[in-house]
Amino acid sequence: MYEYCPVCKFRFEVELGFYWGAMYISYAFSVVNVVIVGVSLFYLAGDPPLWVYGSVITAVTILLTTFLFRYARVVMLYLFGSVRYDATYNQP
Ligand SMILES: [Zn+2]
Repeated sequence: MYEYCPVCKFRFEVELGFYWGAMYISYAFSVVNVVIVGVSLFYLAGDPPLWVYGSVITAVTILLTTFLFRYARVVMLYLFGSVRYDATYNQP
């Protein structure tokens, strides 16, 4: 993650330890992921054995880790960093 935005020079670390709260958002994303994958397995694979649930959910969670990490920070920044996206900021 950049320390400053290369376009508008916004400092991403709003305050010290700001992104610690993103862990809770990431946790919520992971819970949603587990529920979606678990329910999908139940209905699409016909309620497989427990080890299948465990291994598929673990694999999907590992594959989504960088995505969840990144978007948890984005959500944290938008919800608590008082940042609003301005598409016209750098337009001539
Ligand atoms: Zn920027």
